[in-house]
Amino acid sequence: MPTCPYCKHEVDHLIYRETFGYSELYRTVRLNGDNLEFGEWHFEDGDFADRWYECPYCGRRLFSSEEYAKRFLRGEPIEERRRVEV
Ligand SMILES: [Zn+2]
Repeated sequence: MPTCPYCKHEVDHLIYRETFGYSELYRTVRLNGDNLEFGEWHFEDGDFADRWYECPYCGRRLFSSEEYAKRFLRGEPIEERRRVEV
């Protein structure tokens, strides 16, 4: 079974997380006599911002690529990115 490179815990699944920016709640406001009358809250999704796969034990971010997540869960080695020769 693969192990997390950070906490070394054996990992049989990952957490896939997506984040969205600028999510908002809104509600209607009407004037009722002298008072403001608020309607129910509505939720509005923000724009997609980021996605990644993380370790379910330590929460560290491991990959953003689906391909790497598959390879990791299969127990295949993940090659490090080749260094760019300057
Ligand atoms: Zn971990």
